[in-house]
Amino acid sequence: MLANTKKILEKARKENYAVGHFNINNMETVQAIVKAAENLKSPVILAISEGAIKYAGLEYLYNLALISSKNSKVPIALHLDHGKDLKIIKRCIKIGFSSVMIDASHENFETNINLTKKIVKLAHKKKISVEAELGTIGGIEDYVSSKKIIYTDPYKAEEFVKRTGCDFLAVAIGTSHGAYKFKGKAHLKIDILKQIQNKVKIPLVLHGASSVPKNIVNLAEKYGANLKGVKGVPEKQLTTSVKNGICKVNTDTDLRISFDAAVRKVIKNQPKDFDPRHILGPARDLIQKTVERKIKILGSDNKA
Ligand SMILES: [Zn+2]
Repeated sequence: MLANTKKILEKARKENYAVGHFNINNMETVQAIVKAAENLKSPVILAISEGAIKYAGLEYLYNLALISSKNSKVPIALHLDHGKDLKIIKRCIKIGFSSVMIDASHENFETNINLTKKIVKLAHKKKISVEAELGTIGGIEDYVSSKKIIYTDPYKAEEFVKRTGCDFLAVAIGTSHGAYKFKGKAHLKIDILKQIQNKVKIPLVLHGASSVPKNIVNLAEKYGANLKGVKGVPEKQLTTSVKNGICKVNTDTDLRISFDAAVRKVIKNQPKDFDPRHILGPARDLIQKTVERKIKILGSDNKA
């Protein structure tokens, strides 16, 4: 059975750690994330974006997650990431996701509240929890893009949560989607996060939280990738965010770069090997390592 996202995150909030949300779009990635979570006895959230649904199909991804959760001893939840299309959100509620995100952060405050309320009503009827977003996270991810970061206003966050009844809140404190998060020094607005945490008593979510690890970037570049200028959130700043109320940390880019680096290495080193299992197997292994590292940083190991 798929786990209950709200239960997983409320426990994390009480015990002051965060649970990893990892984006999936194929079988190897699912297996890598699940194996990492099992190795470290950690709960985990598998996340599907609208882009991933367009690529792989909702039923395929849903069933991969479902099988994983049935065969696993650790809690595995399934979450819709950045739901914008009402039809897709409804399909995810109907099929039985653990939680859905309604992203109406690009709308004005009142419209965001109204759209979020509507989804909360639909989802709660089926005991599915809802993540909403207030403020603007920068960068580009699948169909989600924004040039400007607008920090979440703590007072508005308090009002938003009260009026919508959402279960978790994604906040904008300086992170961006994608691999190019900062031009200069990386900095998250921990002061804003502290103010939000004081006013909002539900789990907070950090998007765009990949660290873009140097060793993985180096490996990808060694085998031909051009990743000039990439920059992620330093791991220390992730730890600080978790100490100050972040309970769910979203990671996609780090998995993509891991996949890319491992595939490039095989193709370059084994030009005569065309077995997809030999090409994708090492990618699965490297993603697993990346996820294990992240789980340890977030402190969710041995919390299952
Ligand atoms: Zn996001």
